[in-house]
Amino acid sequence: MNAPPSKSPRPRPEIMAIAPYVGGESKLPGVSRVIKLSSNEGAFGPPPAAQAAIAQGAEAMHRYPDGGALALRQAIGARFGLDPARIVCGNGSDEIISLLIQGYGGPGTELLMSAHGFSIYEIAGTLAGGTVRKLPERDLVADVDAILGAVTPATRLVFLANPNNPTGTLVPNTDIIRLRAGLPPDVLLVLDAAYAEYVDLPDYDGGASLVEAGENTVMTRTFSKMWGLGGARLGWMYGPAAIVDVMNRLRPPFNINSTAVAAGIAALSEPGWIEHCRAHNLAARTRVSQALEAAGIRVWPSQANFILADFGTDTVAKAADASLRGDGIITRALASYALPHCLRITIGTDEECALLIASLQAFMKTASRA
Ligand SMILES: *Cc1c(COP(=O)(O)O)cnc(C)c1O
Repeated sequence: MNAPPSKSPRPRPEIMAIAPYVGGESKLPGVSRVIKLSSNEGAFGPPPAAQAAIAQGAEAMHRYPDGGALALRQAIGARFGLDPARIVCGNGSDEIISLLIQGYGGPGTELLMSAHGFSIYEIAGTLAGGTVRKLPERDLVADVDAILGAVTPATRLVFLANPNNPTGTLVPNTDIIRLRAGLPPDVLLVLDAAYAEYVDLPDYDGGASLVEAGENTVMTRTFSKMWGLGGARLGWMYGPAAIVDVMNRLRPPFNINSTAVAAGIAALSEPGWIEHCRAHNLAARTRVSQALEAAGIRVWPSQANFILADFGTDTVAKAADASLRGDGIITRALASYALPHCLRITIGTDEECALLIASLQAFMKTASRA
C-alpha cells in the first residue's frame, strides 16, 4: 500500500523527537554590563598569544586548512605528553561526540549515560537513531554500578563527563577503572574531560592512561573552557588507532578552520596559562562556595570551573535567577537537566565573583524574610 504523497519534505522522525539545544544566555534587556556566568567559558578570555594568532591568520584565510590538523595535533601531543597519531581534532568536542555516536551507535543500539549527564549525549544519541538510557546517580555523582548493571547486548556506548557538567562532580579514578573493567570489551567508553585542566588530583589524567591501556576507551577534550576559545570551536579526542581511523573516515575533511588551528597552537604555548587559571579557579571557587553556603545555599562539591548552587526548591531557584538577572548576572537554569531547584554558576574573575556573592547574599536576606 502506498502512502499518500506528502506536501512537503519530511525529516527523519527521530530529529523531531529532540528539543533544540539551548546554550547559556548572554544578553539581558536594558542591562549594559552583563556578567555572563552561564557557559563555563573560562574567567580570563582567550590567552593573549591566541588573540595575536587569530589576528595574524587573516592574511592566509583564502587557503584551505590542513584537514588533518597535524601541527595542532603535534602541539597538543607535546603539551600533554600524548601520541599525535592518536589525536583527532573536531569542531568543538561536540562534533567529536556526535561523530563517535554516528560511528558506533545508531538504530538498534543503546547509549548509556548518567541521569544528569551532559545533554549533548542524549541529543546526538537520539539524532543518530539509537536508544539513550539515563542511569540513576548517587548524590549527583554518576553511579558506576548502576551503569554496569544496565548493560545489555544492545549497549554500544557509555558516555561519562568527568568532571560532569552541570553537576561539577567527579567519579574517582578507581571507579573509572572499575567501570572500564566491568564493561564488555566491545562497548566504547567515552570519557569527556572538558574540564580536565581544572582538576587538581594526583591520580587524574582525564582518561589518557585508560585509552592507552586498551582498544575501547576514548578521551575527549576542548579548547572552550580553560583555553577560552569557545567561539573558535575546537576540541579533540585521544583514542586507540582503530577508532582514530574510523573518525578520520567519518569527519568532514575540513572540520576545523585555520584560525582555530592557529589559535589553539598559540594558546597551548601561552606561558603559565594553566597554572594561573587553575590557581585562580581553585581559590575563587572555594571563596564563592563558602560564601554561598554561609548565606544558606547548598553548594555541591565541584572539580570544574563552575558550581552547582542548590536552592532546595524550584520556586526559590527561579526567584534567585530573577534576582541575579536584576543585578545583570546571568547563570544557567537547569530545568532541562531535571535540576530545576539548582543554578549552575561559572567561576568568573574575582570582581565578577564578588558581585555574584553580594547579589546572592542580598537575595537570601530578602528570601528569608518573605
Ligand atoms: C562544554 C562542554 C563540552 C563541549 O565543548 P565544545 O568543545 O565547545 O564543543 C563537552 N562536554 C562537556 C561536559 C562540556 O561541559
